[in-house]
Amino acid sequence: MTDRRRWRAIPLLVLCVLLLGGCAARSVTADREPVAARQVRVTTTTTMITDAVRRIGGDRVQVTGLMGPGVDPHLFKASARDVRSLRDADLILYGGLGLEGKMGDLLADLAARQPTAAVTDGIPRAALLTHPGSPEPDPHVWFDVALWEDCARTIADRLATLDPQHADVYRVNLDSYLAELSALDTEVRARIAAIPPAQRLLVTSHDAFAYFGRRYGIEVAAIQGISTAAEATTADVERVAELLASRRVPAAFIETSVPRRTVDALLAATAERGFGAHIGGELYTDSAGEPGTPEGTYPGMVRTNAELIASALGAPGREG
Ligand SMILES: [Zn+2]
Repeated sequence: MTDRRRWRAIPLLVLCVLLLGGCAARSVTADREPVAARQVRVTTTTTMITDAVRRIGGDRVQVTGLMGPGVDPHLFKASARDVRSLRDADLILYGGLGLEGKMGDLLADLAARQPTAAVTDGIPRAALLTHPGSPEPDPHVWFDVALWEDCARTIADRLATLDPQHADVYRVNLDSYLAELSALDTEVRARIAAIPPAQRLLVTSHDAFAYFGRRYGIEVAAIQGISTAAEATTADVERVAELLASRRVPAAFIETSVPRRTVDALLAATAERGFGAHIGGELYTDSAGEPGTPEGTYPGMVRTNAELIASALGAPGREG
């Protein structure tokens, strides 16, 4: 290196040291600042969890949701930016039960080094559904609103453990959320009960509604299994088409987070049996809708689904 180059390199080196030193100092200060004196940084996976953490955490939390509307959690892979957000979080909240199928190893690594919890941890194991051939319980618990109440309690507990000085804030917000969920549970039950009994069959592309069916009294059938990772076979399509045609159920449903081609194949197979079923609408299954729309929240997505299912399967319209 010539002298001139060396002299030029020194200020650059000093600048680098200053920048790095500055970053390190800032991050140490931020980490040492107790959470009680600032917002709690929470990183979440699905939109349903993000929405619940916003409700329960209120102004006390700064929530980063990794999965936006329409994102399929079974197939989601964390980017380098997502990993940074997870590492920077005071608390990580995810669905668990294998929902975030491609993030399992990452979440296990994070759990070993920082506060990390599955929101489904508080659900009694006996309340979980299992399906033949699947090693883990069905992760789609949010469609039973009573089970989602358990998830909400777990979220509030975790926030209060991390930020005990504001435990009363989380308690008040939780109570208000639980009251809303209880009313929602009653509303959904009434809408599904209004469907004529013979037509109480919910057909979707992937098997996300087993908890919904059990809680609200509607039989469910799906072309794919509980994960979207496995492709549907022709035999699956024929089996469900036979069910739709023989029961004369007027509609099957597509899903916001799953491509519609399997349901299109199903309706074609049903038509070959001489029965014309139609698409009853697009259900919000593994993700809520766009923020700012009625279905952009967890209660809104459940209400929208129940209304679509009820009206497409022949329930009389709501009064008023
Ligand atoms: Zn799913």
